[in-house]
Amino acid sequence: MAEEKKEAPKKAKKIAAYRPKRSCPKCGTGVHLAEHADRFACGKCGYFEKKMKK
Ligand SMILES: [Zn+2]
Repeated sequence: MAEEKKEAPKKAKKIAAYRPKRSCPKCGTGVHLAEHADRFACGKCGYFEKKMKK
């Protein structure tokens, strides 16, 4: 009897979506905006940007 060789299913590599972090225009580079569902917000000065919907 011939043995059936089953190929292991190839694992799909998860590609992490690269999202450049936004910096706060008021606080300057280094202060990143926290990402929320619909906006980016700065925890230091309260600045926020609305996310653009596609
Ligand atoms: Zn800020």
